[in-house]
Amino acid sequence: MPYKVKTGRLWFAVVSTRGRAAPLLCISPLPCRQHPSFTLPFRRTQFGAVASPGSQAIAEFHRFLSSPASEQTTWRGPLPSAKLIPAANRLLAKLPRKDSQRFLDDCELVELAFNEVLAEPGARVRQVYFPVGALISVITVIKDSPSLEVGLVGDEGMCGSCLVLGVETSPQYRLVQGAGRALRMKATAFRRQLELSTALRRILNRYLHVLMCQLAQAAACTRYHLVEARLARWLLMTQDRAHSSKFHITHEFLAHTLGVRRTGITEAATALHNRQFINYYRGNIAILDTHGLETAACGCYAADLATYARVMK
Ligand SMILES: [Zn+2]
Repeated sequence: MPYKVKTGRLWFAVVSTRGRAAPLLCISPLPCRQHPSFTLPFRRTQFGAVASPGSQAIAEFHRFLSSPASEQTTWRGPLPSAKLIPAANRLLAKLPRKDSQRFLDDCELVELAFNEVLAEPGARVRQVYFPVGALISVITVIKDSPSLEVGLVGDEGMCGSCLVLGVETSPQYRLVQGAGRALRMKATAFRRQLELSTALRRILNRYLHVLMCQLAQAAACTRYHLVEARLARWLLMTQDRAHSSKFHITHEFLAHTLGVRRTGITEAATALHNRQFINYYRGNIAILDTHGLETAACGCYAADLATYARVMK
């Protein structure tokens, strides 16, 4: 099964070993000109490796990628460095190495399908998810009104954070909006990890604060900001979490996501298209100009990024 890896930011490949997720490779946060995006045809048990920017390991890794596919089943690079924690989720990447390895031992790497429901309001949380490619929509339901997306979780966050506060039932829907992988852990194992790791508790407490800030921001954004600016913000958030400038979403789903009529989405998307910030055709969206889209987005996008950077540093 191939595993897609990209460079340009802190990216990691993860393979599943006997049902468990195991870190495979950490690539430097520097842009990679030779291999901006590639697929690794790993199939067997691998071991972790960390490559520092400009190091011999990077050069060796490029040679490794350029070798025939039949030889690309084993990467014999340097062993993991304590400076870079091999985890594809940004929360887990902040764990000390010892805690990270113990945490990953209790995880399994799973493929989440589009539209898969991970949690329902009032239902017991049996598993937590740390996305490493999947995109999960947090949806709140109001009686006699259409449901509304109030959050978007990618590899910067997790699903099931209510367990951190000792609450065992989910307050909202968690719906997979972008298919992809996630590290999954049973709730019982997650509670044990919380007891064992002070660092994990600290990181997730701070993440909960970020979520509270994001929810407050989303409430004000929905009330005061124009649809075009909110759509631009949502597209940027999706791009950040999906790590892709292209995705598929219908007008109908977007209207549902932003809590507006379809005609409002059509007008906003057309305006962004006319300014050549995006391409939109039959549900296929391509972001053509990220900077332009940032100028069109409301200040909530930058505010959320600043909050995450400040609280999670
Ligand atoms: Zn806003």
